[in-house]
Amino acid sequence: MITLKTAAELASMRQAGAVVAQVLSMLEAKTRPGVTTGLLNALAEEECLKRGAVPVFKNYPNPRGGRPFPGAICASINEEVVHGIPGNRPLKEGDILSIDFGVLVNGFAGDSAITIPVGEVHPRAAKLIQITEEALMKGIQQAVIGNRLGMVSNAIQTHAEKHGFSVVKEFVGHGIGKNMHEDPPIPNYGRQDRGPTLKQGMTLAIEPMLNIGTFKVVTKPDEWTVVTQDGQYSAHFEHTIAVTEHGPEILTLR
Ligand code: MG
Ligand code: MG
Repeated sequence: MITLKTAAELASMRQAGAVVAQVLSMLEAKTRPGVTTGLLNALAEEECLKRGAVPVFKNYPNPRGGRPFPGAICASINEEVVHGIPGNRPLKEGDILSIDFGVLVNGFAGDSAITIPVGEVHPRAAKLIQITEEALMKGIQQAVIGNRLGMVSNAIQTHAEKHGFSVVKEFVGHGIGKNMHEDPPIPNYGRQDRGPTLKQGMTLAIEPMLNIGTFKVVTKPDEWTVVTQDGQYSAHFEHTIAVTEHGPEILTLR
């Protein structure tokens, strides 16, 4: 069931989205060679506390039944696609770091992700980051009242494949509201004429994950970290948006 948010609920979601955006901007500014993802994680937790926000990923139940997620952020480096666990590995020049972050404020969630180049990166990695962010924006542009959700999915896939990148299929975007993950699932691929028709008050977390090589992914023995099957780099961008009478509103805009 897809929930439609009232104006008051949307106001809370704007607050949650703003916190996510502020913290991601801070983490982006701190990302450089030598910094550990554990340090970025500690900073994210501290900034959450200051703002009265709850970091939702921390202790998130493992869908495979293993240990809950140990971090406040997901920090996925290079071939890691999503759900990387922050730790004491220092970033190095040429790495790309995807940070995914979500909070609850006043009982409503915000969820956003960015991929950041660490110093100078390979041109193909830089292109991957650029096209993934563009694909997200192309998808968001389709999130208007009356469009099928498939138009969002198709716009993302079309842009990715036009530039020779593959779209991860195993992980998808989602509705969002009182819960971090609500209906509908939002694939980053598929036909335009599929999926529910978008209505005013829907709030969606749209999150393309694009790979340089194969779209196939595997989960590592730590039960969380998802990596590309061929070890090539992956990028991830996400925004929480609202479908409004004035068009899509990005609630996690930095
Ligand atoms: Mg996310
Ligand atoms: Mg999400």
